[in-house]
Amino acid sequence: MSETGFKYSILASGSSGNSFYLETPKKKILVDAGLSGKKITSLLGEINRKPEDIDAILITHEHADHIHGVGVLARKYGMDLYANEKTWQAMENSKYLGNVDSSQKHIFEMGKTKTFGDIDIESFGVSHDAAAPQFYRFMKDDKSFVMLTDTGYVSDRMAGIVENADGYLIESNHDVEILRAGSYAWRLKQRILSDLGHLSNEDGAEAMIRAMGNRTKKIYLGHLSKENNIKELAHMTMVNQLAQADLGVGVDFQVYDTSPDTATTLTDI
Ligand SMILES: [Zn+2]
Ligand SMILES: [Zn+2]
Repeated sequence: MSETGFKYSILASGSSGNSFYLETPKKKILVDAGLSGKKITSLLGEINRKPEDIDAILITHEHADHIHGVGVLARKYGMDLYANEKTWQAMENSKYLGNVDSSQKHIFEMGKTKTFGDIDIESFGVSHDAAAPQFYRFMKDDKSFVMLTDTGYVSDRMAGIVENADGYLIESNHDVEILRAGSYAWRLKQRILSDLGHLSNEDGAEAMIRAMGNRTKKIYLGHLSKENNIKELAHMTMVNQLAQADLGVGVDFQVYDTSPDTATTLTDI
């Protein structure tokens, strides 16, 4: 491991399931486990890590694509679980959590910074149709990484909180034209396009233009919809919009894809 910072891998990202892995010399943490326990275990295997070594799972919100495997993993490996109070209430009513020992349940309130061993993690609220959805900024030794998906828009407040991170996982959920023309029911299309839905490819690029700074080296495109997006289109939209804003795409920083079923390389930040 490098002298400073931390390591991360986006184990899976997409409408079908999300999980993010973070590692410091002292802690191994997952954010969300939105695939089966078996699949999460195999994704961890891709980066030579094991679920029994995970200290904690931080949960963003109660949607199935974020909590599907949380209960199974918690029962099998006994790690600590963190979510805010409202998300806990919503999860208790969902079929995915099941029985989890109360000693494993912990509160991580929105807008707070918590220290896990040698890393500080800040939570911030997003605009999404869940009980109290929150995402996270990880900070260690002057390095930081931001996760921001599952939000209908990015407010000035959010853009400020996530400002000038070294790396980002940013939502590129859908292409608006594909979504409009596609087979989804009108109501579902409205939900996705609303302020409580998901960021489109253009919205994600716009958010990055506002948030990124001179420290930013890596941008990962996340939470792509299988039905309403195409990987190449999401990538091209991000790259083109950043280039049009005179940002040094490919020079000062790189844009990376993620996959719904393959982990990204374990990377130092
Ligand atoms: Zn969601
Ligand atoms: Zn989601």
